[in-house]
Amino acid sequence: MTDELKRDPEDDTLANLDYLTGLPNRRRLYTWYSELGENTLLHAMFVDIDNFKRINDIYGHSMGDRLLVCVSDHIRTVSNSFTARIGGDEFVVIFDGHLSQDEVYARAEALIEGMSGLDFRRDILSLISLSIGIVLNQHARQSLDEILSRCDAAMYQSKYNGKNQYTVYDSEDRSFEISRNIELEMEDALASGQFKVFFQPKVNMISHDIVGAEALSRWQHPLDGLRLPGVYIPVFEKNGFISQLDMFIYEETCRYKSRWRGRSYANTPISVNMSRLHLYDREFPMKLMQIADRYGIPHGELEVEITEGVFIKDAQELIHMTMALQELGFMVSIDDFGSGFSSLNLLKDLEVDTVKIDKEFLKNSTNSPRGRHILRSIIAMCRDLKIQVVTEGIETKEQVDFISHCGCQIAQGFYYAGPLPADKFEDFAAEYKQDTLEAYRFRLGKGAICSEEGGITGRFSGDTTGFVGHGGPAGTAADIAQTAREQNFTYVDGILRDHSAISFPGGSVEHNVIEISPDAIVNDSYAVSVWIRPRELHSWASVIYIKFETGFASFSPLAWEGHGSFRIRNSREVNGWYDTAVCQLKEDCWWHVVLSYNAITENAVCYINGEPIAITENVPTNRYVKRIMVGGDVFQPSFIGDICELVFFNDAKDYDFVRALHHSYIDSPDYTGGALRSLL
Ligand code: C2E
Ligand code: MG
Ligand code: MG
Repeated sequence: MTDELKRDPEDDTLANLDYLTGLPNRRRLYTWYSELGENTLLHAMFVDIDNFKRINDIYGHSMGDRLLVCVSDHIRTVSNSFTARIGGDEFVVIFDGHLSQDEVYARAEALIEGMSGLDFRRDILSLISLSIGIVLNQHARQSLDEILSRCDAAMYQSKYNGKNQYTVYDSEDRSFEISRNIELEMEDALASGQFKVFFQPKVNMISHDIVGAEALSRWQHPLDGLRLPGVYIPVFEKNGFISQLDMFIYEETCRYKSRWRGRSYANTPISVNMSRLHLYDREFPMKLMQIADRYGIPHGELEVEITEGVFIKDAQELIHMTMALQELGFMVSIDDFGSGFSSLNLLKDLEVDTVKIDKEFLKNSTNSPRGRHILRSIIAMCRDLKIQVVTEGIETKEQVDFISHCGCQIAQGFYYAGPLPADKFEDFAAEYKQDTLEAYRFRLGKGAICSEEGGITGRFSGDTTGFVGHGGPAGTAADIAQTAREQNFTYVDGILRDHSAISFPGGSVEHNVIEISPDAIVNDSYAVSVWIRPRELHSWASVIYIKFETGFASFSPLAWEGHGSFRIRNSREVNGWYDTAVCQLKEDCWWHVVLSYNAITENAVCYINGEPIAITENVPTNRYVKRIMVGGDVFQPSFIGDICELVFFNDAKDYDFVRALHHSYIDSPDYTGGALRSLL
């Protein structure tokens, strides 16, 4: 090797040296290079420390500085050639062009492998690695910028492919060209509409409704076709262009949302990604608001996703940003939760609306028992904190089953759909949005033991055929009538003309009842509306009984002397009995009962004939509906009387709603339920 490239012999004035590491700085690199003879042959290497920002964020800048000194010594020693530090954690090494390729590769390998053996804190070393880009056989007559941009492109490939590796630039391979051109093309690309917003649906795994979507950027390049964010976002984060791209995506998202007005999915909340660069922009929430307002989008229909990585940095800034966004009515979520340094502690101070479980975390956790425990616990913890959980990267039916059993209902993943161009998303949403989450109606008339749209089924006790399940055909009316006769059920007139009610004859525990598939209630908040006419009152006989994994909820027209009760039992507490008591419902007339439980406010309300009669506060949330029974429960002899017009809502219902619902029955020309008695 010639000495020429090995050392930097003369100029070591302070202006030419990096103050921290003592290596030549960028300026020195350029002057040194300009002095090389035109025909000098060289290889160049670009070295970047992976996750260096995180070290600064977690351990502070002075630790970051010490690490830089240590790593720079390592690079200088191992490469044994001219080494400069040209930016925060970026180094350039220039090798003599007569060095063999293999020797260059060997040094790159030694650089990467040697990292774990550095004399530095183990915990820090375990977090970092090197990404290296190499360009071979360059002539010094080219501009250094040209050479460095190739190295840089190769280095980005290393990052893109998972870091901790080296990549050699290949002029034949378009992907390097792409990386190099990104910075040159980005402004024009944005101005000329090459950036598009795609939408990836978020689906409720139980009800199969679309409950939201995430806006993701795509670069539709005129020559190269579709470019994915992994290719350009890292570059934009580094050069700051991400701010402009983000604003564009927010604008596009709002524009589409305003276009969807009047459609079934118009109010579907859409989430957008926020780069960490915005965190220090105090105007950011206002900017987002201005965009939303320009298109008349309710703020509650926009959610801002902030990746977990940001959360370690300056927690105070983050808390401010989250609160400022929420004050304006936007929702905030933690993205990629579990991908790295999830600060559980931060969840305590930071009241985000949603946690999105990282797709890699999901992948790595589902195949070990410990991993599964952790996932289950994180989901349970979020639910306790009243934080919505979305699982990202759901690709298989097994994952759907596992995650939904853990209590997370919302999935975003290829199993349902990948990110879709707007028109495809519109088709998907139009087809998927069924509003089934809203309500399941059971008329309970003759042969009508499945919900009206057929999605949820029920069965008479003693019937062993099981639920037909989602979307499947319900038993035929004749079958059901047959079973019903066997079970001594009869049909009488209901409260609406041509709609019958089922007459429950009573019986011992769990006899002569109807079971409804537990899928009818998939939410922590719910409401049940039902019309009942007791024939004979027996203390604690239930009209409706919902068994949860953690307790139960039931309604008895007569609970104790003179009272009926909407009772919620939480079995995790010894004294977890919550009775929302109303006056006893008298026999032989129709009553409209609505039971509503709100998991956010923790209020249980019992409405009778459209009026709120009683409310209980601080009722803890029960989880995972296991069984739903109509006309009885698992403790007491069954209910004797008539029941019809049963509806399950997957949301708590307020007074306005219940009053309107009640009037929709009694003001109907078909109402035949007779005069109603007042409890007030
Ligand atoms: P993200 O916010 O975590 O978005 C989810 C990523 O997971 C998307 O990658 C999506 O395509 C991918 N994904 C969804 N379901 C599955 C699945 O079942 N399996 C697998 N393997 N992947 C799945 P995408 O679109 O490539 O975006 C990557 C990241 O780039 C995003 O991660 C986000 O952090 C960032 N990004 C994308 N667009 C923007 C943007 O406009 N602004 C900002 N600041 N960041 C963006
Ligand atoms: Mg995201
Ligand atoms: Mg994510």
